[in-house]
Parts: sequence; C-alpha cells; structure tokens
Amino acid sequence: MKGILVIADGLGGRPTDMEGRTCLEAARTPYLDELADRGAVGLVDPIGPGIRPGSDTAHLSLLGYNPHELYTGRGVFECLGIGLDVRPGDICFRANFATVEATKDGLRLVDRRAGRIESGQEELAATVGTMRLKTPGVEIQFRASTEHRGALLLRGKDLSPHVSETDPHEVGAAIHTARPMAGGAAAKRTAAAVNELTCQSHEVLKDLPLNRERAAAGKLPANILLVRGAADCPHIPSISSIYGVRGAVIAGGALYRGVALACGLDSIDVPGATGGLDTNLRAKAEATLAALATYDLVFVHIKGTDNAAHDQNAAAKTAFIERIDAEFVAPLLERLDWRSTHLAFTGDHTTSIDYGDHTADPVPVLFVGANVRRDDVTSFNERSAARGGLLRFSGQVLPMLMSLANRCPKFGS
Ligand code: ZN
Ligand code: ZN
Repeated sequence: MKGILVIADGLGGRPTDMEGRTCLEAARTPYLDELADRGAVGLVDPIGPGIRPGSDTAHLSLLGYNPHELYTGRGVFECLGIGLDVRPGDICFRANFATVEATKDGLRLVDRRAGRIESGQEELAATVGTMRLKTPGVEIQFRASTEHRGALLLRGKDLSPHVSETDPHEVGAAIHTARPMAGGAAAKRTAAAVNELTCQSHEVLKDLPLNRERAAAGKLPANILLVRGAADCPHIPSISSIYGVRGAVIAGGALYRGVALACGLDSIDVPGATGGLDTNLRAKAEATLAALATYDLVFVHIKGTDNAAHDQNAAAKTAFIERIDAEFVAPLLERLDWRSTHLAFTGDHTTSIDYGDHTADPVPVLFVGANVRRDDVTSFNERSAARGGLLRFSGQVLPMLMSLANRCPKFGS
C-alpha cells in the first residue's frame, strides 16, 4: 500500500474572502469533489483549536509530531531545505542581504531586502564563503536562496541557539548587536561570532564590483548580511523508522523541503516547481506518479495558495486552487492505481484574504482510497467538510494516512 500526502499551503479560507464564500468554495474543483465523493472529509486543526500555526510547526504536527516538544526554530529547516549539511551542534539562521549606510553612529538600515535583489546572489554567496571568523573554532556555511534570502549555519564546539537577531526590521534603525539570551559561555561565544560575521560581511560586500554596478544603476547595494531565527538541530525520529516506509518530498519552497528532510524524507527536484503561483503543477503530478515506483510515501507541498492569500488576492487564490484541481489532482485521479494507493489532501492552515496572514480556523481535509470509510459528502470545501465523516480533529494526518495503508505501528500490545 502506498500513500500520498498533499498539502496546499494556506488552503483554508474565511467567508470574508469572497463576499460570503471562501476561495475554495468559490473555486470550480470537479476533481477534488470527485475525490471527496469517493472518500471521507472533515476539518483539521493543524496544531490544535485556537493555535495560529506557522507553516513549519503546522507541518510537523500534520506529519504526526508534537511541535511543542520538537520545534527549535525555522532556521534549521531553511538550512536543510537549501541544501546545507546540518549536523547536531550546528546553529542555523535565516539570513538576508540588506542595504545599510554608514553613519557616525554606526550602520543604519536602508532596506532589509537590498531592493529585492534579483541577480548576482551567487557572487555575494561566494564572497560570504571567503569570510573567516576570529572566534576560535567557529566556521560559517552560507547559501543564497531566492531574492535577498539565504540560510547560514555556524559550526563549532560550544555554540548556542540562544542569541538575538541582528535585523532591526525598521528602516533608519541601527543594525542590532546580537546578544546572548541565556547564561553561560556558549551563548556569549555565539553572539560574538554573529557580531563578527555581521561586521565582516559589510567589509567584504560593500566594495564588490557588483554593488558598485548596482549603485551606478540606481539600485540598492547588498552590502550586509543580517541573521535571525537561531535554531539548533531538533531530534526528530524519521518517518522511515516509525512507519517502515521509504518516503520522498516534492516541494518548491526550501522551508517545506527542509521540514521533510528533517523528518527523514528524500527530496525529489522537479524542474519548474518554483514554490510560487507560476509553479509547474503538471510536472509535480508527473513526478509524484513516477516517485511511486520507488517510494511508499510521497509528500507533495504546493505553496501558491498561501502566497496569493498573503497578497490578499482572492481571485489569484481561487484561480490557483482551480489550477491545482485541473493540473495536479486530475492526472492523479486518472492514473493512480486506487487499489493500492491512499491519498490525503489538506492545507497547513487557513490564510485569510482579509487578514492577509495565517489564522487558527480549521482546514478541510480529505482521505480517499480503498480502506477509507466513505461519507455522504460529495464536494470539498470548508462548508462541506464540516458535515464530513472525519468530523474535526487535530494534526496527525500522516499517521492516519499510514494507518489506512496498514503501515502504522501499534501502541501497546
Ligand atoms: Zn503554511
Ligand atoms: Zn504563509
């Protein structure tokens, strides 16, 4: 028995999205409706009722883990997702290229996204890679991702995740000095390393030809690297050790790839999977079908729904849901071997159009496959899901899927 878990990020909506209807209610989704008809639906609180989820914590919970116990911070998932080799003891950060100006009072923030820099990040990353810290025994690894973003890790003995960030998040503010947020030498040593790397990044980046060219073209230079979200490596038992399955993730966004890698899944690269509204959903469907030849479990993450909702664009979210239905769900519906496959489809939280951010409202979820107890619901949306046979539950979607595939370990004897 094989399993497919599909998470459409920020799928859930509110009636304020489209004058009384959610985007999922407004979207034409004949293939998802067909799956709902064949299977069972319900509502899931990604972490628990009244808990407003982040994407990373929600994913951990849907994958069957307790984020209250395991979660150390986003940085580690960003580092893993971007391809850095994270080891126990490493301290991971989210990083961004920014623009600062030197004043008599020190460095002040001009733009925390360096004008949303669109090219040259590899050169910037290579320059950051030449930096050597004087803090003894501490080494830096860095990779750029999209636009101004990247991920950075510190490796060395006696480092701590308890350090404050350097990003002031406010134009005109002084760049923050990282401070130890816990007692002991490790936090002090880590804060010293962060402050050193911040100063050094400005020194090595400010006069790069790339930045002079940017300045000449009227663009903001990427002349400093700011870090935030320090996290150490969480101890997450792997999905293969729990269920005895070989699993893979298909995700355009580094964060989601990182969460899945931390849970022991392999990552499958799909050309055209961008983690945005322009992603190639057909290619993701093809890759899912192909992966089932070698994997027992395929987890597919689709991000565009959340992007459109953060942009408060109900039309874009609705259109993207229709694309998921036609370009991703339809080929699976047609070509999967439904005698040996179970599929779960849900979101990791609600992202309301009006609020433009994640909310605690539960999300529709559906399970389909031979072992699913079919209910009477024949469409897939927030309203129909409230009448479904799965009722309302919290997290645990992957364990439920694994149980349907007869892969779940027994609790007790
Ligand atoms: Zn999310
Ligand atoms: Zn989001």
